[in-house]
Amino acid sequence: MIVFGPTVVLSRVRGGGGNSASGCILRGAGGGIPLEHGARYGAVAGPRAEDTVRTRRAKRNVVVVGAGLAGLACARDLAGAGLEVQVLEAGDAVGGRVRTDRVDGYLIDRGFQVFNTAYPQVRARMDLRSLKLSPFTPGVVTHTGEGRTRRLVDPSRRPREARHLPDAGLSPRDLAALGALSARDACLPAALLRRAGAARTTRAALRGAGFSDRFVEEFFRPFLSGVFLEDELETSGRVFHLVWRSMLRGTLCLPAEGIGAVPRQLADGLPPGSVRLETAVTALTADGVHTTRYGELPAAAVVVATGPGAAGRLLEDVGTPPYRTVTTFYHAAPDLRGHGPDLVTDTARRFLNSCVLSEVSPGYAPAGSSLVATSVLGTGGPAGSGKALLGTLAEVYRTPTEGWAEVAVRTVQEALPAMTGAWPLSRTTRAGGRRYVCGDHRATGSVQGALASGARAAREVLADLDR
Ligand SMILES: Cc1cc2nc3c(=O)[nH]c(=O)nc-3n(C[C@H](O)[C@H](O)[C@H](O)COP(=O)(O)OP(=O)(O)OC[C@H]3O[C@@H](n4cnc5c(N)ncnc54)[C@H](O)[C@@H]3O)c2cc1C
Repeated sequence: MIVFGPTVVLSRVRGGGGNSASGCILRGAGGGIPLEHGARYGAVAGPRAEDTVRTRRAKRNVVVVGAGLAGLACARDLAGAGLEVQVLEAGDAVGGRVRTDRVDGYLIDRGFQVFNTAYPQVRARMDLRSLKLSPFTPGVVTHTGEGRTRRLVDPSRRPREARHLPDAGLSPRDLAALGALSARDACLPAALLRRAGAARTTRAALRGAGFSDRFVEEFFRPFLSGVFLEDELETSGRVFHLVWRSMLRGTLCLPAEGIGAVPRQLADGLPPGSVRLETAVTALTADGVHTTRYGELPAAAVVVATGPGAAGRLLEDVGTPPYRTVTTFYHAAPDLRGHGPDLVTDTARRFLNSCVLSEVSPGYAPAGSSLVATSVLGTGGPAGSGKALLGTLAEVYRTPTEGWAEVAVRTVQEALPAMTGAWPLSRTTRAGGRRYVCGDHRATGSVQGALASGARAAREVLADLDR
């Protein structure tokens, strides 16, 4: 991407550390929850007042339903403020949509995704160094059919590639528009971007920024369809501006151990025994929750951080938006070293994006092999899967693909909320009667949105319990 704002230098976030064992996680029955107060999130004035508030809070327990990013962020903040927290997770690991499986030696994320270092919540909470991040190429390669590609790389990060900008299909008008858009989105205060053109679509925002229809169709539409998981550019324009800003200000990368390392790090910071896996909440009761594994558990407050479908089932009157579905095909290929960590999009829109993951981070594939991730809207249909997809990939990577093996396919039904219209960027989590609801459906469909919504839930729980 063209960038005219500050950039994050990856050497600052590479190297050092590894994931610690998740001592905070319990499978099956377990005892009480020892408290371990994290001073980092304390939020009261003087030492004496803090002691009193903490003593009072320690007697209150909060159940957080769901150990996705929203639930973990909420639990971290509540535990840091002195509350006893229990996170109940239906799955067999933390992370929700942000998980990584190991299949035949390959790291398989639950759908292709990228980690953005610029998100404010990421910068505030995560130890980036221990994630051992590796960057994507700062730009996009657009496949335009029959083996032809256009490479648009951020000249502020790769000055030597600036001379290739005209080859990327950028007219002087589009180049000027891209510079102006990027300068504005990277440098204006985020509060101004949040207020700007609330009800405008992304398409209208791009038209307003002065881009030609051709450039929108050939660059923005294929690229953004992979970001918003829709290909009509109907996502809210202000969501687009904020996402564009985060891309300009940050680095898109992947952790060495897969995207699942992100929630694992959050969970590792919780007091021991806080997370109970394979424990689904079936209903909210008058005094707490009913679970599959432990029956009824009492709670002074319950935070539903489950994702939209389950939130709608557990809490009446919680409206949830429609969601986008995406499928990622993971192929093991013979050694594709040299292709580089490029994100490839397709003007014919046969796929959303494709990437040799092991070129971004070598640990994604065993030695001597490569892992290619290709995402399609919905489930792909006949044209976006099987032999047809392999034929497209042969064109894209200019190599025979008959021998490629499908290692895994991941379809995520509730992948991202459809953030259309005047999409509110943050909604209250209060659902009445000491019940709260958080997750990306209450903010934006992103790592930032989920974490921020979890943080908001914690603030609202604390404010209500302290009353
Ligand atoms: C394929 C894909 C690609 C993405 N790419 C990006 C990207 O590149 N950048 C970006 O910023 N964002 C991306 N996102 C979005 C981001 O991952 C999500 O917005 C975020 O992870 C949502 O977190 P959450 O905590 O709100 O919900 P979830 O992750 O859905 O967590 C909900 C948790 O609740 C649990 N649960 C559900 N029901 C119950 C129950 N009854 N009892 C107990 N537990 C329950 C679930 O098992 C789950 O662990 C992507 C998402 C997908 C799916």
